[in-house]
Amino acid sequence: MAECGVCGADEAIGTAEVEGARIAVCRRCSRFGGKLELFQAYAPQFRQFAPRQKTPKAEYELVEDYAARIAKAREAKGWTRKELAAKVAMHENDINSFEQNRVKPLEAQARKLEYALDVKLLSPKVAEDSTRPAAALPAAAVGEPTLADYLKKKY
Ligand SMILES: [Zn+2]
Repeated sequence: MAECGVCGADEAIGTAEVEGARIAVCRRCSRFGGKLELFQAYAPQFRQFAPRQKTPKAEYELVEDYAARIAKAREAKGWTRKELAAKVAMHENDINSFEQNRVKPLEAQARKLEYALDVKLLSPKVAEDSTRPAAALPAAAVGEPTLADYLKKKY
């Protein structure tokens, strides 16, 4: 790691603008500069947040009959595979593969196709996480009978 460019004593944690120049600063000197940008190693909060955000993020999966849906929607629009390929910036061979159920479009490709064809290809994955809070609700409601039980015992 670099040394602080201001005091030269401590290890720099990032760079900051000091008098118009971007220089490495330590934790203490970072207060004197502007637009502090932490080095990756010193920004642990970002690394912690990244995996946590992945869990609640809605995941999508392709509908089972994506091949038929693409073909049907394309034909309804009166487009050839080549025309569709051009509209979604893909190769005609890709469209062939999708429609023949040989290759699954990636999520980004599916979204382009959804948009161009006005068809639904992705459905939210029912994540195990999203069912857990719902399952926890009845358990929380059990708290009331517990109080009643307590009163029954008391009197
Ligand atoms: Zn310093």
